[in-house]
Amino acid sequence: MLKLQNISKQFDDKFVLENINLEIETGEIVSLLGPSGSGKTTMLNIILGLTSVEQGKIIFNDTDLSNVRMKDRGFNIVFQDYALFPHLNAYENIVYGLRNKKGLVTEEELQEYIDFLELKPHLKKKMAELSGGQKQRVALARTLVMKPKILLLDEPISALDGVIKESIKQRIKSIARQFKLTTIIVTHDPEEALTMSDKILIINQGNISQFGSPKEIINQPANDFVREFILKQL
Ligand code: ATP
Repeated sequence: MLKLQNISKQFDDKFVLENINLEIETGEIVSLLGPSGSGKTTMLNIILGLTSVEQGKIIFNDTDLSNVRMKDRGFNIVFQDYALFPHLNAYENIVYGLRNKKGLVTEEELQEYIDFLELKPHLKKKMAELSGGQKQRVALARTLVMKPKILLLDEPISALDGVIKESIKQRIKSIARQFKLTTIIVTHDPEEALTMSDKILIINQGNISQFGSPKEIINQPANDFVREFILKQL
């Protein structure tokens, strides 16, 4: 279980997150949903260990991560722009992070991820030869081979178009289920959050407006902000 306890973050004397409390069960898909500037990416970066906090604690499976550095947390992120190396082919991108981590995955496991993401026909291609959806799958494979304890995804499908969007959504869901992987997704799109997640955290101006299942959020919006934000964009 991942717990955020009283997390607050300020930039330039302004609170961008205020007293955030949150509990995420192992294997759950949770979306962080909110308008632009609400603090979603800051929260993701705090969990990842990229951004420090002034106040509060992050606890993962009973370990306090306050003084645990990013590389030792074992959480891995797929960035919005995928951050793939253009001069390397798909296979080289996928195994890049493993170069100093011999034995982290077996050859069989590596093949399992490649098969699961249907990347076999594309392994020798450079990034410029891949579609948006194929690049997204390479980025997912590169992250999964690191055996993350938590998978973090920053706007994973906003850059993709219709049909590919749907297939990546389904794939992210099956990854979380198949590998029992806690998955945290940043999105500004209510439809995306409602169709992908077990739970949704709605953030507004650095505060939690509601945390609940898609059903709860649709049927029992906690306040006017949630009602309008969800309904307006559906
Ligand atoms: P978006 O959907 O537009 O990416 P977001 O919900 O992810 O927005 P954040 O990127 O977390 O929002 O930003 C929250 C607030 O913190 C914004 O007002 C932003 O300007 C501010 N902010 C973020 N990073 C920094 C920084 N490094 N220095 C100063 N202010 C920052």
